[in-house]
Amino acid sequence: MNKKLITIIVAVALVVVVLTVSLSLYFTRYQWDPKDTEELYLQNIAKVGYANTIDTAIPQTELYNVINNHFNSALSEGKTVKKAIVIGYDGCRADILAEMQDQNSAINTMLQDGASINLAYCGGVNYPAENTQDTSTAPGWCSILTGEWADVHGITANKITKSMDTKTLFTSLTEEGIIDKASFITKWGGHFTAKNSTYKLEKEYCEQKGLNVAFNKCKDDEASHQATLAEVSSVDCADFTFVIYEPTDSTGHGKGFSFNNPRYKEAFKKADSYGYETIQAIKNRATYATEDWLIIITSDHGGIKTDHGGPSIQERMTFIVTNAK
Ligand SMILES: [Zn+2]
Repeated sequence: MNKKLITIIVAVALVVVVLTVSLSLYFTRYQWDPKDTEELYLQNIAKVGYANTIDTAIPQTELYNVINNHFNSALSEGKTVKKAIVIGYDGCRADILAEMQDQNSAINTMLQDGASINLAYCGGVNYPAENTQDTSTAPGWCSILTGEWADVHGITANKITKSMDTKTLFTSLTEEGIIDKASFITKWGGHFTAKNSTYKLEKEYCEQKGLNVAFNKCKDDEASHQATLAEVSSVDCADFTFVIYEPTDSTGHGKGFSFNNPRYKEAFKKADSYGYETIQAIKNRATYATEDWLIIITSDHGGIKTDHGGPSIQERMTFIVTNAK
């Protein structure tokens, strides 16, 4: 063999090695997980202990009614004021709840306190019918906040600005004088700060009308968490607080939405620990005993591979944990 031939063989061998290493790294990062099957998904859903089934999953729009009913119902004896908080875990799949921990888990704490846990669905219609709006952030949260699907609110996907024909609970509850103050806390610019953000007009409307609705855009999840703790710990805290924690969505997009992905599990535990500290802060309020708190933990959509928006069961199912009677 001459030197030239040896050089070619070594070069080809090197290319093969580099390709093999790259491909194996790609798969171990769970960007595409062939083991994230529907069968495994259903097994983990069964472990969570949901009160209902996928067939009887609750439309996520129902949360609008739960919150609205809470504020419009009479105060029970010994209570002087109604409060509500929605703690959102963005992009949190319903199967990952099988990983909730005994300590530092908001969901586990709520269940111990007697809360209900149910499967819910996003996307306009229940699985397996094909979704009529993207299983994405803006459509999901907008359906929860307006009680409508995209055929009414128009938010079929991200990057669409909602008209004021359909108002969120922030605006309707404050405008009707049912509550004094609402607070929306998020790190995602797509809600009300970016170009074509969902609630751009809603924010302007609240400012023009002088409604006490705080649109609080934070720089990251930790800042959202601190803002939430400050809000629920303040003497005159918002009557309705709506916070979205995003570790699950960020990790899913970066490393894969999958029960097999340890990083996604860690992200869920992170979000659930933020939720836990939030609930502890509420319970620590000096006036907690005389306040009637509605607490909801939910998600806007699930995810598969490194994305969401589509019709798979992993994207369609969400969950609702609430102390609502
Ligand atoms: Zn989302």
